[in-house]
Amino acid sequence: MSQTVVKNPCRCGSEKPFSQCCEPFLQRKEKPRSVRQMVRARYCAYALGAGDNREFLARTWHPATLQKVRPADLTNDNLQWQKLDIIRAEQKGDMGRVEFKASYKVPGDDKVHVHHELSLFQRSHGVWLYLEGQVREE
Ligand SMILES: [Zn+2]
Repeated sequence: MSQTVVKNPCRCGSEKPFSQCCEPFLQRKEKPRSVRQMVRARYCAYALGAGDNREFLARTWHPATLQKVRPADLTNDNLQWQKLDIIRAEQKGDMGRVEFKASYKVPGDDKVHVHHELSLFQRSHGVWLYLEGQVREE
């Protein structure tokens, strides 16, 4: 059994290199085919922070709900994202639901916080778009 050490592993926790995981999505070279991939890519955008990734988050937000989004919802660079756990992902036609937990820290505090959310996605012209999320109390 050989254990390969992945160089520059993707932040989404897939244990694949970033260049073969979420990077092509963030760079618009490929479209996520599943809601699971889209959640991973959006998590990476948050984890990597501002810049181009803010645009990725806005672009993958459903236009029907994007207008209610505050700039602070599109990356908060004070949060240090630790890991992503996808609890379940379901797709039915052009609708998708993903329940996940994303762990993060805030500066000056060692406590790990958990953002537990049920996200709804709708596929439009072959692209999964984030419709809305329900935050679950931990
Ligand atoms: Zn990834």
